[in-house]
Amino acid sequence: MPYCPNCGEEISEDDEYCSKCRYSLKGRPVRRVRRRDEKDEKDEKREEEDEKAAIMGGLVVIWLGLSFLLQNAGILGWADFGGVFLLGLGLIIVFRGLWAYSQSGVFEHGFGYVVGGGFVALIGAGISFDLDEWWPVLLIALGLVVVVRALMARSENPLP
Ligand SMILES: [Zn+2]
Repeated sequence: MPYCPNCGEEISEDDEYCSKCRYSLKGRPVRRVRRRDEKDEKDEKREEEDEKAAIMGGLVVIWLGLSFLLQNAGILGWADFGGVFLLGLGLIIVFRGLWAYSQSGVFEHGFGYVVGGGFVALIGAGISFDLDEWWPVLLIALGLVVVVRALMARSENPLP
């Protein structure tokens, strides 16, 4: 199927003018390829997401390897190993959220990652630094997150 060289609209071989932009097609070579459109952009976005997922997966594996290395070297006991791994895992997830936010500029895009990763990191920190008594900090953090989120949503849609 040929396409208008001016606007990219589909045309037929014997059209004299493009039906969309009225560009004269007489004696013009027609484009055989479609212009970049929304579908192409969506595909690209999906590829970008796949890339991000791969990088996150790689980071987690690297962190798991590092945790084992520290354990094998005797720097971490087995009790600390789980906590340190969770702490790193949480930070990686938070990083993913900040990354999504920095790319889209939309707070919501990274919010779930930051909150989820933050909790995983806090639990990891709790295990590795014996913060058994500190678990209420999780509740305080959750409350703060809810309040900040509500305030941000309000500043985006100010009340009349
Ligand atoms: Zn056209």
